[in-house]
Amino acid sequence: MTKTIFAANWKMNHGPPDAGSFLDRFLDGYQQESGRELWFFPPAVSIQSVAQRVARLPGILVGAQNVYWEPKGAFTGELSVSMAKDAGARAVLVGHSERRHVFGETDDETGRKVRAVLDSAMTPLLCVGETLSERDNGKTLAVIHRQLAVLDGLDGESLARIVIAYEPVWAIGTGKNATPADAGTVHAAIHSWFEKRGVVGGTVPVLYGGSVKPENAQELLSEDEIDGVLVGGASLEPKSWQAICAVGLD
Ligand code: PEP
Repeated sequence: MTKTIFAANWKMNHGPPDAGSFLDRFLDGYQQESGRELWFFPPAVSIQSVAQRVARLPGILVGAQNVYWEPKGAFTGELSVSMAKDAGARAVLVGHSERRHVFGETDDETGRKVRAVLDSAMTPLLCVGETLSERDNGKTLAVIHRQLAVLDGLDGESLARIVIAYEPVWAIGTGKNATPADAGTVHAAIHSWFEKRGVVGGTVPVLYGGSVKPENAQELLSEDEIDGVLVGGASLEPKSWQAICAVGLD
């Protein structure tokens, strides 16, 4: 993997005024570094303003936190893929654990969303990860494989356009992160899942997410199998997000 992806999931934080002031502070002194990309997933109402603000900055991309797979119609409260794209999104988070566990999103729905995003020439960032009880029962890899199975039937070209985030549910927002070695084992299994389906090794980036902070980002990103990070809480404050995005720069 030649690039490292630093993805910020703002969840239900930073509406348009806050997003603007975050960017004022974050971009002050920002310099693009080759080999790293910054992806911002603001709430839907802020996609357009963030996208306009970073439009001329190479290496920064904006995405949506969620979409619905139908193109339009009577789906109150939903955001279509083309609406997200028209607002400036180029990627979409799919299957985030909060979508799965708070809103009851199923594997089938996750698969439909991935296909809708691919059809609109955007990048799905598919999140997978086990709960604590699944981990304690030794089911981590079985859960990951079940969640990846929603990609069955996609051709190699489509598979090669996907990005995966391994986010153990027990690590999200809890302050507990997987050790680099534990995450590395799961990442290796994900990389190999794609290789077995003909996607050349390393083509599909696999990010780690779950309580990434300035203090542990370096250690996690030093693990060979980890191609980037997906960060919630620590991406909300410009200084801590700057510190994470600067990991590895001297
Ligand atoms: C996330 O929301 O994807 C996430 C990993 O959150 P946190 O960094 O707060 O654990």
